[in-house]
Amino acid sequence: MSNYDLHYELRCRECGHRWGNQPRSICDECFSPLEIAYDYDWIRYVFGNGTLDPTRTIREAIAQRPANMWRYSELLPLPQGFTPRLPVGFTPLFQAPHLAERLSGTATAAKNLYIKNDAVCLPTLSFKDRVVAVALANARAFGFDTVSCSSTGNLANAVAAHAAREGLKAWIFIPSDLEPAKILGTNVFGAKVVRIAGNYDQVNRLCSQIADEHRWGFVNVNLRPYYAEGSKTFGFEIAEQLGWRLPDNVVCPMAGGSLIVKIKKAFDELVKLGLVEPKEVKFFGAQATGCSPISTAVKTGSSEIEPQKPNTIARSLAIGNPADGHYAIKAIKSSGGWSEDVSDPEVIDSIRLLAETEGIFTETAGGVTVGCAGKLYRQDRILPEETTVLCVTGNGLKTTDVLAGVYQTERPIAPKLAEFEHYLQQTLHVDEVPEVIAAAQEAAGVGA
Ligand SMILES: *Cc1c(COP(=O)(O)O)cnc(C)c1O
Ligand SMILES: [Zn+2]
Repeated sequence: MSNYDLHYELRCRECGHRWGNQPRSICDECFSPLEIAYDYDWIRYVFGNGTLDPTRTIREAIAQRPANMWRYSELLPLPQGFTPRLPVGFTPLFQAPHLAERLSGTATAAKNLYIKNDAVCLPTLSFKDRVVAVALANARAFGFDTVSCSSTGNLANAVAAHAAREGLKAWIFIPSDLEPAKILGTNVFGAKVVRIAGNYDQVNRLCSQIADEHRWGFVNVNLRPYYAEGSKTFGFEIAEQLGWRLPDNVVCPMAGGSLIVKIKKAFDELVKLGLVEPKEVKFFGAQATGCSPISTAVKTGSSEIEPQKPNTIARSLAIGNPADGHYAIKAIKSSGGWSEDVSDPEVIDSIRLLAETEGIFTETAGGVTVGCAGKLYRQDRILPEETTVLCVTGNGLKTTDVLAGVYQTERPIAPKLAEFEHYLQQTLHVDEVPEVIAAAQEAAGVGA
């Protein structure tokens, strides 16, 4: 029992000072961020049942568990007695052959490009469900009856939904210009939504001040170290779904810069436990040009963030002063990767490209990832023969406003076959007409 208490705790990323388990994200000794540190010997022992060949045993143990993120519970900071109440995660990973050909310009990439699709993560259709699930497990253990967050949209949805499920009160702070679907998708869960006339960075600063005054669990302020660990499950799943193999490359959208850092931590932990062969995975960050503090730093060779004022349709990524920017730069550079950014028109083209080639409708963040991946193939930083995973982190139905005007609403036609035939002739390209019309007429039982 006491072993369990000790199997993880907060530790300063810089000075190493240990802080036990408490709602806190900054080291008082050196003002650096805190991170969860684990006792891996304990994890190896418990996971592997103390056997001599733990690797196989651990893989088998995991495989027998339900298909959700809780199958990696030993590698998450979950308080004693915690029982998961929602099957979050374990989203599909699949090949994207048509997209691969379009992005790389070769047929070789078709077998090697994968999409990890958190556009269908339960319950709110983004990877934020993973982080919130872990944060709220701890919010309960720390005795909070109210949870809160500053959000660029998806986090708001996730906190509100999980809080409803857990019977906690939720206060959500958002920039006032968020996508309507993301605001509605927060209200519906009965959360208190506070719109702030300012950008995310201003909302976040306000939340830090509120956290000092009210005993609330802010998932991305005082619970941030616990929250961030939830992102590792995205990485665990990639490795398991590739057959306990690491890919050559990961292309990951970045806002605060936490997800990309935690996928790397997940891979490192799997290597440490002997669950995958060691491999030098390259990490590629993706941002929108209108808010690209991390990619700008990588491109200019700087190790520190120069804050920006966001101006992009990719609002889920619009953080001008990313909390984990420094560590994201480090993860990218030390892996031999790179970071790119794309303009808003490229984001829209990329959303459409992914939808038209693979049938996946992603939000703007996914457009950023796909657009940047195309650049990276063209720059030969990603090679067609390498196994590459694109992180699709959110659902397109939440950001339909960015596609307004792309598709014309056409005049309705009368419910008459003749009307349709007329419409068809007007619509089709001239050279397609004869064959298609013949086929259509045949199907409709009209003599040709
Ligand atoms: C929050 C978010 C990200 C980025 O996450 P960070 O960990 O803050 O870098 C990526 N995609 C979507 C859809 C998000 O909502
Ligand atoms: Zn410290």
